Amino acid sequence: MRLAVIGTGYVGLVAGAGFADFGNDVVCCDVDTKKIARLLAGEIPIYEPGLDTLVARSVKHGRLRFSSDIETSIAKAEVVFIAVGTPQSADGSADLSSVVAVAEAIGRSITGFTVVVNKSTVPIGTADRVRETIAARTTHPFAVVSNPEFLKEGDAVNDFMKPDRVIIGTDDERARAVMRHLYAPFVRTNDRLQFMEARSAELTKYAANALLATRISFMNELANLAEKVGADIEHVRRGVGSDPRIGPKFLFPGAGFGGSCFPKDIKALLHAGKVSEIPLDIVDAVDRVNARQKTVLASKIEKHFQGDVAGKTIAVWGLAFKPQTDDIREAPALVLIERLLSLGAKVVAHDPVAMDNVRALHGDKIALAPGMYEALEGADGLALVTEWHEFRTPDFARIKGQLRQPVIFDGRNVWNPGELRSMGFTYYGIGRRS
Ligand code: NAD
Repeated sequence: MRLAVIGTGYVGLVAGAGFADFGNDVVCCDVDTKKIARLLAGEIPIYEPGLDTLVARSVKHGRLRFSSDIETSIAKAEVVFIAVGTPQSADGSADLSSVVAVAEAIGRSITGFTVVVNKSTVPIGTADRVRETIAARTTHPFAVVSNPEFLKEGDAVNDFMKPDRVIIGTDDERARAVMRHLYAPFVRTNDRLQFMEARSAELTKYAANALLATRISFMNELANLAEKVGADIEHVRRGVGSDPRIGPKFLFPGAGFGGSCFPKDIKALLHAGKVSEIPLDIVDAVDRVNARQKTVLASKIEKHFQGDVAGKTIAVWGLAFKPQTDDIREAPALVLIERLLSLGAKVVAHDPVAMDNVRALHGDKIALAPGMYEALEGADGLALVTEWHEFRTPDFARIKGQLRQPVIFDGRNVWNPGELRSMGFTYYGIGRRS
């Protein structure tokens, strides 16, 4: 089928490349002409494992193209995907201006029956708004589908190519048939397509993210209690996670969650509750607990140095909001760094892939080291914020030799406190026995 994917970010580029891989004729469009120019030059503007190979394969065979001519691309497409950003507005709601702008362009451009698929994460009722926006500008027939995306950055290609489920929200029979056809090769082994109306599909996306975030905040809250009462949250985590009714995922305590999705989606869900006058107390608590958790590591550092952090140098390992991505949106490391800088500390940070994004955002405010060990030279302590593979089993003897004081703040509980203490380190984790 002929597809236009509007918005070529983490979701749009992966989805466009994925659909092209299964033989569709795909054009990925974006208003960001620099991004399109880089893609046309064979560059991948984001870090996402496996995406370069997936993109290159379809580009080579002419199935995947890039364009900033959005209206022409829409005019030629049978299916148009909306995959633009829906960032947080000042009042917490999702900013739909990009989605509406694309809907307007669709209304101006379609030339025959078109299936319009919304992949962006959007408030309940947005499919209706998109439909009205398009209908006001065209006499051509079209159908709107809500098809929220569940991929996770860092493993986006796998998630997209082998989805756990595909949610398709629409009442339109023709659109259902098109979506079934498009997704059939992705769900060949068993049928993981779930059909529903658009509003349920829209809410499903928020519900999934809020539930995952709830597990994290719940464990973070218990981690703080564990620390106080002399329990070890890592034992508790394994204990509860081995119950099949609970399962082990998303129970890891740490320095708080970040990223481009959980924080803003929680705010958007809270906003929806407020507008609908339905209290969402649990979601509200998840948000507050997370904001507090992002300050925990800085508090431990302050406490260790007895409030005298000014003039100290802290090495920070990990800037991306999680491993395997260069995305730094709402990253806990940035909250930690802001706090340390405000206390007069110096920060030297290293991240395997996210340093360019930090440099673009923060300029020279933070010193960035080319390697993980270079960040340690002369530092008074090391804080681990993102558990990249290369940070998991480092050379601790080397670390000890480089740090001015052998103190480690393990914001992801990846290191063994006993081992480190026996090597002479002072070790702080999240919710572990001291
Ligand atoms: P992104 O910021 O990486 O990419 C969005 C792209 O849309 C940008 O390249 C931007 O230039 C482009 N854009 C903005 N307005 C446009 C317009 N009017 N016309 C054409 N292009 C336009 O965002 P993302 O992370 O890919 O997220 C997109 C949506 O998918 C969001 O709603 C997000 O919540 C949702 N989502 C994201 C993830 C994720 O892990 N990143 C996962 C699931 C769902």
